[in-house]
Amino acid sequence: MTETAEMKNTLRESSSSTAERAFLFGRGDRTMKVIETIAEMRQVRKQLEGPVGFVATMGYFHEGHLSLVRKARADNPSVVVSIFVNPAQFGPHEDFNTYPRDLPRDLALLEKERVDVVFAPPVEEMYPPGFNSWVDIEGVTERLEGASRPGHFRGVATVVNKLFNIIQPDISYFGQKDAQQALVIRKMVRELNMGIEIVTLPTVREPDGLATSSRNAYLKPEDRKAAPILHRALSLAQELWGKGEKDAEKIRQQMRELILKEPLAKIDYVSIADPETLEEMEEVKTPALVSLAVKIGKTRLIDNVVVG
Ligand code: AMP
Repeated sequence: MTETAEMKNTLRESSSSTAERAFLFGRGDRTMKVIETIAEMRQVRKQLEGPVGFVATMGYFHEGHLSLVRKARADNPSVVVSIFVNPAQFGPHEDFNTYPRDLPRDLALLEKERVDVVFAPPVEEMYPPGFNSWVDIEGVTERLEGASRPGHFRGVATVVNKLFNIIQPDISYFGQKDAQQALVIRKMVRELNMGIEIVTLPTVREPDGLATSSRNAYLKPEDRKAAPILHRALSLAQELWGKGEKDAEKIRQQMRELILKEPLAKIDYVSIADPETLEEMEEVKTPALVSLAVKIGKTRLIDNVVVG
């Protein structure tokens, strides 16, 4: 047995810290495969050692994406990451065409994280002419982001369902930053009996509290200075709740007042809702999902915290 194989065996028997497991499940010397077609992805999937961990992304990576990739790497012998800017989840007047993209940089970052396979199909591969099959999750998709962005979750559920069918992961990792998306995916997997474990990981933030996001690239310097107002409003909600305030509308109101002091900010919604049904609360019961969408200049940002 080589020294490395011996070390891996010892680790397999003795430990499971994240760093050690990352080493244990490292890709070794094999090169990362970058795949563009569904047919090739299916072929390669057959050869992957399970469990297969999967992270779905739209690329233009930041530390939030990488936190999911690192957890997938630490927990699974095989890791697949998809990079696909999904036109179906953008509204007609949204930013599909201008959404930031940098595939070479993304691939270099994934190579560093020792990802096994990157699935980066062109749009026509995922949505050939005449495509007409959609996954509609009702109820929770009608609120918050769903209310502001009609059709958004139909696009998300459809593409994630397709990616799950193509990649057939055992575990898939999502960020709490998009709390409603994670909820919709969990519901879809449960109700459609897809047999995939969904893991939600905490929101990664910049030192000033701003949640990392590909769309932060749109922020002009003055917008960037104003953007931490989202996190400040969420922190205010936590503080008020901590001091015993249970009236949800009073908390929402104080959050709105704080945000309105920022001239570049325009509120889309401020919500305190049940984390499962997303129904707005009158009295704050725990856990509660405090979430908001705010435009800073021309850029729409979302963020959330769970209190309790
Ligand atoms: P996206 O590329 O924006 O579709 O995001 C891909 C995945 O990364 C989703 O599961 C997001 O929830 C997750 N993600 C995005 N931003 C963050 C963040 N700041 N912290 C943790 N996860 C994130």
